[in-house]
Amino acid sequence: TWESVPLAPPDAIYKLTYAYKDDTYPQKVNLGVGAYRDDNNKPWILPVVKKATERLLQDPNLDHEYLPITGLPEFTSAGARLVLGPDSPALLEGRVSSVQTISGTGANHLGALFLSRFYQWEEGVQKVAYVSDPTWVNHFQIFRGVGIELKTYPYYDPATIGLAFEKYLAFLKAAPRRSVFVMHACAHNPTGVDPTREQWTQIADVVLERAHYVFFDCAYQGFASGDLDNDAWAVREFVKRGAPLLICQSFAKNAGLYGERVGALHIIPPDGERAQSAGARSASGLFEEWKVDIKTMAERIIAMRKELHRLLTEELKTPGNWDHIVNQIGMFR
Ligand code: PMP
Repeated sequence: TWESVPLAPPDAIYKLTYAYKDDTYPQKVNLGVGAYRDDNNKPWILPVVKKATERLLQDPNLDHEYLPITGLPEFTSAGARLVLGPDSPALLEGRVSSVQTISGTGANHLGALFLSRFYQWEEGVQKVAYVSDPTWVNHFQIFRGVGIELKTYPYYDPATIGLAFEKYLAFLKAAPRRSVFVMHACAHNPTGVDPTREQWTQIADVVLERAHYVFFDCAYQGFASGDLDNDAWAVREFVKRGAPLLICQSFAKNAGLYGERVGALHIIPPDGERAQSAGARSASGLFEEWKVDIKTMAERIIAMRKELHRLLTEELKTPGNWDHIVNQIGMFR
């Protein structure tokens, strides 16, 4: 009977949000959910999103007709261009298969399900993928839910409040060939610690050497540096070098579309293997305006980090070293 269906564990982040809503303290701050807020502690509706919404409302062609199974083609191909770059070899060679998903979470789920079903796992052995220690907590439920056991690889070093790079690299080298590694494309959640370009290059060397598969989770493109291309550097480097990979793309943060659940999954086989096409609405003309809005958010985050650092060190003369606050990236630490 249905009584045997287990109750899913409560989501810690949402639980905290409900407790926050019930709290009457006027100066309350919710640090649980990873969402951008303005100076009044309110969600910020991007001016470009407001404009696009108004355009949509006036669009006589918007008729709520069915879309293809894999989503709105203009959306998924624009998403692929955004993360891969318009002149990406993978795009030019027609190697990218893209599917519209229910935000980044849906992309993660579909990506994990795709690997569970179609990755060339070793016969008769438990499927295993590796995530950074720590990682976005939902990775565990998502992967285990599709029959892939998750193990962690060294990532964060509490001693330096930075990347445990040597251990990370050694782990990559020692892992069985063709292992699946989940990597955050930029603005790592929850540490705010990203590899440098030099370190990414070395990670890519080992990934190629060991024929590992990279599952890129890209939830913060533009949020780390304020520049969309800059934040996609690692993904593009891996694609350029021919590493087999997939990308989970979320527009929750960089477009401020948390509730709309806009995302995509892009699957990119290595050179020579053509994509068997695995298969949102256009905001064309507003791209430049969107980039300005992203800069506004990223620059505010960076300014907040600087101000917090100044308050702790200069104003309050707090003992200890607080440089990690300005060295880390994005909304987390
Ligand atoms: N991956 C990571 C690393 C995240 O931080 C998030 C959002 N917190 C997601 C995926 C999924 O985000 P969403 O479903 O809201 O797009």
